[in-house]
Amino acid sequence: AQNRYASLRGLPATGTCGTTVQLYMNAGLMADLPSLAGSGAEGVGLFRTELQFLIRNHVPRRGELAELYRRVMDNAQGKPVMFRTLDIGSDKVLPYMKPQDEPNPAMGWRAIRVGLDKRGVLRMQLQALIRASVGRPLHVMFPFIADIGEYEAAYKILMQELSREQRLGHPMPTDIRVGAMLETPSLAFAPRKFFEMCDFISIGGNDLKQFFFAADRENERVRRRYDTLSSSFLLMLRQIIARCEEARVPLSFCGEDAGRPVEALTFAALGIGRLSMRPASIGPVKHLIRRVSITELRKIIDEGLDSGRPNLRRPITEWLAQQ
Ligand code: PEP
Ligand code: MG
Repeated sequence: AQNRYASLRGLPATGTCGTTVQLYMNAGLMADLPSLAGSGAEGVGLFRTELQFLIRNHVPRRGELAELYRRVMDNAQGKPVMFRTLDIGSDKVLPYMKPQDEPNPAMGWRAIRVGLDKRGVLRMQLQALIRASVGRPLHVMFPFIADIGEYEAAYKILMQELSREQRLGHPMPTDIRVGAMLETPSLAFAPRKFFEMCDFISIGGNDLKQFFFAADRENERVRRRYDTLSSSFLLMLRQIIARCEEARVPLSFCGEDAGRPVEALTFAALGIGRLSMRPASIGPVKHLIRRVSITELRKIIDEGLDSGRPNLRRPITEWLAQQ
C-alpha cells in the first residue's frame, strides 16, 4: 500500500481549488522516525513522550531523555517535532509508580494534572527537551489542558526552566513554540487570553470526542456509537476553528480521525490547516485531498450545518462519489 502512494511523497496535499493542508505524522519511539522520510510527512505533529517512560522500570534520567530527544530531532533532519509532555494516567501505570485506584481513570489524575502536582518530573522533562534543542527550535505541547489556569501554570514552569538554563550559561534553543492539546470540551470555551498565549493548538480528537459524547474510547459497546461527522461534533470544531482564527493561532488535529480520508478532508474543509496521523495514512489522505476541491466541500458542509441536518456523512460521501 505504501508503494501505491510513493509517487505522491514529494507532492503537497493541495486540493484542486489550490488550498493546501499540511500533513504531519504521529510518533512515540525512535523506530517511528524513518517513516518521516518514507511517508513524506512535513514533521511530527505529535510525539507521545510517555512511551519512553512506559518501557523502562525506573524514571528515565534527564541525560538519557535529552539524548533520546536529541536523536529524535537529528533524525527529523530539520522538520519540526512537537513534543507532548507526559500523558500518563492511572490507566497507563508506570511500573515504578504507585497505582492509583480511580473509578474513572480517563477523567482522573492524568497528563498535565500529574505534571502540575509532581512538578519535579515535569521540570526534568522540560530541562531534557531544552538541552536537546540547543541550536534549533523547540516545540512543546501540554496534554489534557482543561482550563486556562493549567496552561498558565505549565507555561510558567517552562519559562522558569528556560531562565534557569540561561542563568547557568548553557546554550539555548533558537526559538521556543509552546502549545496546548485541546482535548476537553471546556477548553473550546476558554477565555480569549488562552488562545492568545498559545503558539499553536492541536486537537486531540480521540479524547475530545470521548468527552464530547461522554462515550469511553476504550469501551467496545459505545466507542463507535457517535459519528465524527455528526453536526454537533462538527459545530464544536467550527467553534474551535473560529476561536483560533480570532487569536491567529495555528490549529492542527492529531487524533485517529485525522488519518481517515473522509474525516481528514472534512476537517480541512472546515478550516483546519494541519493534520497529524499515523504515517501509513498520509498517502491515502493526500491522494483524496489532491483529487477534490476543498472549497467546494466547504459549501456542502456549510449548507448541511446551516440547514440543521443532524449528520453530514451522507451529503459528504454523496458529493465525493460525484467527483
Ligand atoms: C487524542 O486524544 O486524540 C490524542 C492525540 O492523544 P492520545 O490518543 O495519546 O490520548
Ligand atoms: Mg489524548
